[in-house]
Amino acid sequence: MKKPKTFFVRTYGCQMNELDSEIMVGQLLKRGLKRVYDERDGDVLLFNTCSIRDLAERKVMGKIGQLGRSKKKQIIGVTGCMAMAKKETLFRKLPNVDFVIGTNNITDLNAVLDDVINTGKQQLRTDDQFEENLNYLVAKRDDPYKAHVSIIRGCDKFCTYCVVPYTRGQEVSRPPEDIEKEVRLLVDQGYKEITLLGQNVNSYGKDKPEWKELFHDLLYRLDHIEGVERIRFMTSHPIDITRELMEAIRDLPSLCEFVHFPIQAGSNRILKKMHRIYTKEQYFEKVALLKEIVPNVSLGTDIIVGFPTETEEEFEETLEVFREIRYSVAFLYTYSPRKGTPAMRWKDDIPEEVKEERLQRLIALHESITAEERQTFLGKEMEVLVERKNRDGQLKGRTRCWKKVIFPGDETLIGTLQNVQLHSYNHQTLIGTVVP
Ligand code: SF4
Repeated sequence: MKKPKTFFVRTYGCQMNELDSEIMVGQLLKRGLKRVYDERDGDVLLFNTCSIRDLAERKVMGKIGQLGRSKKKQIIGVTGCMAMAKKETLFRKLPNVDFVIGTNNITDLNAVLDDVINTGKQQLRTDDQFEENLNYLVAKRDDPYKAHVSIIRGCDKFCTYCVVPYTRGQEVSRPPEDIEKEVRLLVDQGYKEITLLGQNVNSYGKDKPEWKELFHDLLYRLDHIEGVERIRFMTSHPIDITRELMEAIRDLPSLCEFVHFPIQAGSNRILKKMHRIYTKEQYFEKVALLKEIVPNVSLGTDIIVGFPTETEEEFEETLEVFREIRYSVAFLYTYSPRKGTPAMRWKDDIPEEVKEERLQRLIALHESITAEERQTFLGKEMEVLVERKNRDGQLKGRTRCWKKVIFPGDETLIGTLQNVQLHSYNHQTLIGTVVP
């Protein structure tokens, strides 16, 4: 097989996948390959896939299937959760795929590529166990100011609808010294915002009691790094959010006052069926404590509607929770059964049109709450990390609580933190002027 000179990468799914792609891009650049942004120009095509939704899987299968018809000696690789879930069966479904690499083998990319080139045979690497000393420093990030840093991989929670514990394996924390080293490096390179990533960051360190360093300890360690401006984290399981973490959000200057606190459903019966291991009441207690300790905190959530057997009354409980908590950010979905998950044993009995109708009611509620929230921001001054210029020539960035803001200003402000006085809004975006 001819030696490749260029590569193309497409990433599907979550921020963890984006980071994995950055790690793979770094390896391919180190190998001397040039990145291209049109798949027709790529000698190697990499599809870093997601299994969380059936639709996401079907999209990528269709995409790669099409390439099969027009394949011009391109090397096609599938990585990510779908690779992990389907393994060698992918070769049967998509015979034009040259290699399949699971989520735990992303740093084997160059070795796998060599094997494909040297043998001309399909290659499979899908280890079940994650290597905790993976070299993250090779990552080539797309964004010059905001970086994702992985702190824990895998998940031990086994929510009944979720494939992650099967595709990404059990929780493995990354050594705190390695995380600190990476964050120091990023700060030295001028990164302003670090998002700590994990399927459940709040479990950090529990799998390594000998380290005596839990998630809040790690946050104190990172906040002490000179020059670190903003730290975020994503995502959390409510059961593991501790008082110590809440106090860290209150006390550490770099830690943003935003917590993604996914409830998933508002009915205790559905929560139990989802194996979320908390009740609505326990969830409310945690939110009340968080709001007491960090009064200006903003909350985000994920919600699934139309879980098997969910009644109209149970869905209304979800609406009620939403009204009460007033989430600032929400990722709202209809239930979609995933092969290999415990929820597959239940009939997907809520008709699609009912799921869709529930979703639309929830979206409408979310929009009305965020519209009211935007009113409360008017007249306030907020810190914005300036990320880029938009098409209208306005500067664009986000507040600490993850709100989009635009304002007039000079390009030299890109990559800096500015205080912006908010005076109006346009749909979801706040509009303001820089405070001199
Ligand atoms: S906490 Fe539940 S939903 Fe989140 S990754 Fe783990 S199993 Fe999936």
